[in-house]
Amino acid sequence: MISEHTVEPDLRTITTHCPYCAFQCSMDLAGTPDDLQIIGSASFPVNKGALCIKGWTAGAALAHPERLRTPLMRGADGELHPASWEAALERIAQAFLDTRAAYGPEAVGIFGGGSLTNEKSYLLGKFARVALQTPNIDYNGRFCMSSAAAASIRALGIDRGLPFPLEDIAGAETILMLGSNSAETMPPIMQYFEAQRENGGKLIVADPRLTPTAQRADLHLRLIPGTDAALANGLLHILVRDGLIDADYIAERTEGFEPVRNLVATYWPERVERITGVPEAQLLRAARMLGSAASAMILTGRGAEQQSQGVNNVLSFINVALALGLIGHPNSGYGCLTGQGNGQGGREHGQKADQLPGYRLITDPAARRHVAAVWGVDEESLPGPGKSAYELLDSLGRPDSDGSSGVRALLVMGSNVVVSAPNVINVEKRLQSLDFLVVSDFFLSETAALADVVLPSAQWAEEEGTMTNLEGRVIRRRRAFVPPAGVRDDVTTICKLAWLLGKGSHFDYSDTGEIFAELGRASAGGPADYSGITYDKIEAQYSDGARGIFWPCPGPDHPGTPRMFADGFPTASGKAKFHAVRHAAPAEEPDAEYPLYLTTGRNLAQYQSGTQTRRIAELSEMTPMPLAEMHPLTAQRYGIGDGDPVRVCTRRGAADFTVKITRNIREDTIFAPFHWGGMQAVNRLTNPALDPTSRMPEFKICAARIETISPVIPAKAGIQ
Ligand code: SF4
Repeated sequence: MISEHTVEPDLRTITTHCPYCAFQCSMDLAGTPDDLQIIGSASFPVNKGALCIKGWTAGAALAHPERLRTPLMRGADGELHPASWEAALERIAQAFLDTRAAYGPEAVGIFGGGSLTNEKSYLLGKFARVALQTPNIDYNGRFCMSSAAAASIRALGIDRGLPFPLEDIAGAETILMLGSNSAETMPPIMQYFEAQRENGGKLIVADPRLTPTAQRADLHLRLIPGTDAALANGLLHILVRDGLIDADYIAERTEGFEPVRNLVATYWPERVERITGVPEAQLLRAARMLGSAASAMILTGRGAEQQSQGVNNVLSFINVALALGLIGHPNSGYGCLTGQGNGQGGREHGQKADQLPGYRLITDPAARRHVAAVWGVDEESLPGPGKSAYELLDSLGRPDSDGSSGVRALLVMGSNVVVSAPNVINVEKRLQSLDFLVVSDFFLSETAALADVVLPSAQWAEEEGTMTNLEGRVIRRRRAFVPPAGVRDDVTTICKLAWLLGKGSHFDYSDTGEIFAELGRASAGGPADYSGITYDKIEAQYSDGARGIFWPCPGPDHPGTPRMFADGFPTASGKAKFHAVRHAAPAEEPDAEYPLYLTTGRNLAQYQSGTQTRRIAELSEMTPMPLAEMHPLTAQRYGIGDGDPVRVCTRRGAADFTVKITRNIREDTIFAPFHWGGMQAVNRLTNPALDPTSRMPEFKICAARIETISPVIPAKAGIQ
């Protein structure tokens, strides 16, 4: 078979990064898209040559037969038909102009993605504010780590997922990890935990499931879903009572401890055992492992964060880290394990509803002035904050409560919301009620299948740009191949649309390096300051082994900032802030009608909504369908056997799974992964209750019941 891709003429081996998770493993590519060898780059200091199965097989998506290779437009017959780029872009521009003329600029919305490069994230935010002048842009990263981000900003003054390099993990004496299953989601990270263990360190994992990560822990705290803040307060109660807190650090580097001390006094161990289900002896052991360690870390993942109390949960664990004097000390601290490929960079450059580039607030007059000057527009022309991700999706095609039209036309770039959003039955209905939907993707995802226009976009190995990994390390995504004929990169698409909308002079770039340079100027002086980072500077580091530059990097001679908070916190007082946080119940708890907790998560061989990974044969063979995990006693109660089909129902709807019976889960809880669509979408069931601060939906907890059903035969392996 002759490849439709053109190999760059000088291609021997190109070093770039994996398209999937925030670990951003470096990989060396050799060959052609039809016959690509991928190996982990041994010299990259993050993955050190390791890849997981998703990385090894990532090349299969490039030459995949189902890949979109031409724009599609919905015709009068209701079907999608191939179209030229010119016709597709003109139809999009006309639809946006018509919508604006009829309803105003806020009636056009944008939904971006946490896997887009920094350049695309930045450009999408600028496109919304300058070309469309709409406030309504948000992205699927809101569903990822927005609770940890909001908590970090409130307590520490800034959000960088890990404010220290991964190598510090190996030196920590004790690590407490909450709601993260890293052994499956980013397996190469486990080498740091293995090194920590070899150095004599201890790992505590808190999770309702005995996950592969928890199986490697010295102590597993099998807490009841939604009781994270009670667990934190209980641990801090013991640490205070037993004199294990760092009084000097609290006095010198923090403020607001007394209300927290008073609050945690009411979280005595017996009470916390009743709330969390974690035995008192385990609480004592965990507190002593943390309190007696010379160095310790607390790391949170989606389990603790994807809740309607997500910000409070993270704040409560930051309280523990501050009370122990961990933050800013070697091999210690608090960090969030970001999930999506560019989950970190994607949240810094303006595709969030409330932000401008550099992690600035769109409501901050100084930030608006600065960014407007870089963009060459009047600051008055910049819209204010828009709707958060779920609120944006929920508003589609219907009037807002204030009587305005709501969003009538939507551009989705790099997101498959019909699978990955909460309460997707409602989201699908809302998308169908739009006047116009355009989706840019590699494949005809479940969301793209609903669109009026579908644009085929370039993939990871076909584009230039930068990504920012979970440590805040800015790295280069390099192009190995030009995209197949008929496929364009999203940067070109955004700029062409801007020209058609009459704003092209603001989107006139010769290459992505020029976009990155503008991003740097727009970020200058902001919390996420990239102004001292250039492509050349990153490339130079690739040749001396340093590999990437950590933000903030505020000037050309600045080396970057691998470790933060050694000398203070970027708050008004320079001190970190405690927050007194009470345990509060999740939005929905089990009752007589829905007697079980349902929690959701990820599988080793799938990534996010599965648009790519469900199409890759090796991955699909490993996990061809979503398995609903339940305890043997729960299964016995319902007369269900291993491998039986089961229907799980919540107040939102029903979804079908195959049962996996395992003792690795609590009796009161069932688990299902979220990588599948249609009747196998667990997000048909999830609760869109939002955290009041981060607007994070409560993916991790809802009340469910089980119904037995007849076996179903999948329509097609992997893709449904
Ligand atoms: Fe590495 Fe994550 Fe890619 Fe796996 S999915 S190879 S852990 S970047």
